[in-house]
Amino acid sequence: MCGIVGYIGPDQAYDFLIKGLQRLEYRGYDSAGVALLDGGLKVYKTKGKVSDLVSLTEGKDTTGSIGMGHTRWATHGEPNDINAHPHLSQSGDLCIIHNGIIENYASLKEVLLERGHEFVSDTDTEVLAHLIEDIRENEEVDVFEAVRLALNEVVGAYAIVIISKNDPDLLIGARKGSPMVIGHGKHEGEYYIASDATPIVEYTREVTYMEEGEIAMVKDGQLTIKTIQNIEKTPYIHKLEMTLDAIEKGGYDHFMLKEIYEQPKSIYDSMRGRFSQEDLTFAMQSLREYETKIRNLKRIIIVGCGTSWHAGLVGEYLIEEFARLPVEVEYASEFRYRNPIINSDDLVIAISQSGETADTLAALELAKENGATLYGVCNVVGSSIPRITHAGAHTHAGPEIGVASTKAFTAQVTVLTLLALGIAEIRGQITKARLREMFTELEQIPGKVQKVLDSCADKVLEISEKYMNVQNFLYLGRGYNFPVALEGALKLKEISYIHAEGYPAAEMKHGPIALIDENMPVVVIAPKRGYYEKVFSNIQEIKARKGQVIAVITEGDEKIKSIADHTIEIPDTEDALVPLLATIPLQLLSYHIAVMRNCNVDQPRNLAKSVTVE
Ligand code: GLU
Repeated sequence: MCGIVGYIGPDQAYDFLIKGLQRLEYRGYDSAGVALLDGGLKVYKTKGKVSDLVSLTEGKDTTGSIGMGHTRWATHGEPNDINAHPHLSQSGDLCIIHNGIIENYASLKEVLLERGHEFVSDTDTEVLAHLIEDIRENEEVDVFEAVRLALNEVVGAYAIVIISKNDPDLLIGARKGSPMVIGHGKHEGEYYIASDATPIVEYTREVTYMEEGEIAMVKDGQLTIKTIQNIEKTPYIHKLEMTLDAIEKGGYDHFMLKEIYEQPKSIYDSMRGRFSQEDLTFAMQSLREYETKIRNLKRIIIVGCGTSWHAGLVGEYLIEEFARLPVEVEYASEFRYRNPIINSDDLVIAISQSGETADTLAALELAKENGATLYGVCNVVGSSIPRITHAGAHTHAGPEIGVASTKAFTAQVTVLTLLALGIAEIRGQITKARLREMFTELEQIPGKVQKVLDSCADKVLEISEKYMNVQNFLYLGRGYNFPVALEGALKLKEISYIHAEGYPAAEMKHGPIALIDENMPVVVIAPKRGYYEKVFSNIQEIKARKGQVIAVITEGDEKIKSIADHTIEIPDTEDALVPLLATIPLQLLSYHIAVMRNCNVDQPRNLAKSVTVE
């Protein structure tokens, strides 16, 4: 969480910093701040959004060709002006921004207090600024060395940028546990720093992804990268492939809506070129390279958080059905702290849109220590998870900016479907004929998603209007659609702040049925596949208690239409592929309800994307 940007070069930094912060605002929006160096040091910061920062700086001096900016997702200290970043050292010379958590900040602070330091904020970040300065003064070293020594004392996660009033040609960045990218500018001595590549792409396509425990310094126009153990590294330059349109709203009111409507393409891109319908083969490098390993696997463990965990549940159903291999799906945060049994013949699949989710990364590290093979399903190329896993397949959803995940989820499910079929094929669990059927149907999915988008909009608006003021929602689904129910409920909670719960349809009678009365809307995913008759009975049970049924049904299903209060039709497809279609109207339902309730859809309260804190 937290977005950070930095600039050093011949231009003025301010415009890049503000635009960059706006692009990174999905990472946190509790407060925003910038620091600019131009002879003197100017710091502007405020509680609230980047737009509040822009108002604050109006008419003020924003000159400076060295600068940095921060948008915060508070972990230590309430979101207010004082706790907003940047923070200063004791003398006011060093200025720092930070993404992450300094876990041992309290003990460091105690020592510094004893040494006469005075702190103005409640943040862990300010402690780090003071620590660096304290080391610089006591050890009589330069800022870079002081940063390096300080980071050796720090426990926790960070991506930091530091500038110094007395060193007007210097910019330092360092990372461990939180992401950081350096852009190589077009002019000599020009460098950009950011939490991800979106602020940079407009200025340069040449970037270096910083590795764990590295410190970068630009001094007198030269970039040097060293590890915190003081070993010099040669910066590896990647070429960015992302386009500028992909990170802008393109005429939609919100990123979330744009991303919902991009799903025919993002699903297609996530499967494109990965299988051949003609000769029934897979072109996924990870499957080819790990063929022997996959043949000998005893179990698959899928780890993820939030929406990615829901995609993992769909993955469990897919892999168990097609590949007949036991699968466990775990919340990454639980997995890492419960002493799990991990064997060398396990495959651990990590799912994360950002590829930076702190809990998922830590779960992978644990699995790696225990000898498991690691596989990443991530959207952001160059992020941490793809770099620590042995193999993986990216979701090609394109940048997802809306905090509530939509197209990343369906892209994850698409990749997991291919993975399940590929593993099934390697392990001899699927016939050619069945594979052909699945490929044929998969190829139809982008078109069917488009059809859902084209046909359900009015219906969803009408339902949203009717239920926008309720307090609670229930979502039910069975089999493949149980995770869809969970995801539908999560989406509604996240952006409209209506309490919603997802349940397996058959579990309703073991508890949630007590909640049903004429005020309770129940969304039931009830395609004419899987357990249709059973779900039909569940709908009758809801109606018998006067609940309001909103059913997602297969087109032409008159039976459910005759008893449900509202129906949304989706095209027929394979049972295993229904989640890719049924999810779409639920995303739209949460979107429209949130808009009608005047909620900030792209930046819901308290949430942030790319959760790089535990
Ligand atoms: N720990 C810092 C703070 O609370 C940074 C938080 C973050 O990275 O989200 O200000």
